[in-house]
Amino acid sequence: MAMERNERPEVPACMLLDIDGTLLHHHGSPDVVIKAVPRLLPGVLIKMAEWARAGCRIILVTGRRECMRAVTERHLEQCGIVYDQLVMDAGTGTRILVNDMKPNGDGPTAVAVNLPRNRGLYGISVRPGEVRVEVSEEYEREYPDAGEVIVGPCVIRGPGSPPAGTH
Ligand SMILES: [Mg+2]
Repeated sequence: MAMERNERPEVPACMLLDIDGTLLHHHGSPDVVIKAVPRLLPGVLIKMAEWARAGCRIILVTGRRECMRAVTERHLEQCGIVYDQLVMDAGTGTRILVNDMKPNGDGPTAVAVNLPRNRGLYGISVRPGEVRVEVSEEYEREYPDAGEVIVGPCVIRGPGSPPAGTH
């Protein structure tokens, strides 16, 4: 089918995923994590396979320290998690993704999903420019304490040019 003018082919998303509490059960401090048996959270393998089939890049970003790289790679392998890159030592502070918007206004280029700890990836749908989180009644019954999911692009509106004296 011929593409309409201005219509863009769907571009797969780049998924930046946390590990502990997001993909694997959060075991707490590094000395516990290093000895723990890794436990996959619900929906993780299904969602990651779906995103891989869609051509998404999978980049794992973790606060685990660089000295835990080998044990982290082992945990991921044991759980069957396939990824493109593993970024260690991201600290424990808020992770903020910064990207410029495309001039044609083709949807947000940066989106954040803040999940309750150990909720898993069940119910998250990602399409170019859009992230949806659907929680089924079955999931609600199984995980009644899952809490609230926060989704959204972060748009900072302000003056069009930087303050004088900045570059
Ligand atoms: Mg975490």
